[in-house]
Amino acid sequence: MNAETLNTWRARALAILRAVSNSAAADADYLLMHVTGVTRAQLLTRADHALSAAQQQLLESLLARRARGEPLAYLLQNQPFWSLDLQVTPDVLIPRADTETLVEWALELARARGQGALALADLGTGSGAIALALAHELPQAQVTATDISIAALDVARANAARLKLDVHFAQGAWCAALPARARFDLMVSNPPYIARDDAHLAALQFEPQLALTDGADGLSALTQIIHQARAHLVPGGWLLLEHGFDQAEAVRARLQQAGYAQVSTRADYGGNPRVSAGVFDG
Ligand code: GLN
Repeated sequence: MNAETLNTWRARALAILRAVSNSAAADADYLLMHVTGVTRAQLLTRADHALSAAQQQLLESLLARRARGEPLAYLLQNQPFWSLDLQVTPDVLIPRADTETLVEWALELARARGQGALALADLGTGSGAIALALAHELPQAQVTATDISIAALDVARANAARLKLDVHFAQGAWCAALPARARFDLMVSNPPYIARDDAHLAALQFEPQLALTDGADGLSALTQIIHQARAHLVPGGWLLLEHGFDQAEAVRARLQQAGYAQVSTRADYGGNPRVSAGVFDG
């Protein structure tokens, strides 16, 4: 392999990635920083720095994977969410900024209930993103996180340990993972809500299908959670659900039919109705 510098590799990577990625420059920079350990500033000030053969080899394999469409987060094994750096593997959905809308709303509701020892549950936690953000912001809360996927729980547990956040993990489908008597002040979930035949799924082929689609119309996991959560909320406890941009009305209708009150929806940073919630009065 010819000796390459930060700059020559970057130029070559850009030419390859521009055809497949609309974030080619950022992709190339992050891969370089990940493999060489240089800072973003050093990419400019040390542009002539020579890459070692081992670095070049690793960069080539990551570049090829990125060129095939694999998300950058899986290549870096890392994704920022809220104020946390999370490790991610292909066993978990890559946390999205949209989901921070749910975290913000959950924090508002939790803080309105006082800073006491609230019990919170995150159903289908994946990387642990929501549960860990809540545990980080609400140190006195008792946070439980469930997932049906053992591999996902391994990732979430490792994130909790690395971030030194105290979250209790349980394996199982939605509320089936919870002890029958467990009661929560706040339950949240970002379940799989993409319909089986949604064209959007093809673009997400590297992420676990289990985390993306219910294999049906996109509303079945949301509906199950709406019904199951009632048995696990304290009177006055809230359920918050992330959903697709076109599902708000259907989710609100289901919440109302199931007896939740004060049902409403909030938009994400992109302006799409993204999270709906209701309070269960028992
Ligand atoms: N928001 C994700 C997407 O559309 C889907 C996440 C989910 O199904 N929970 O890319």
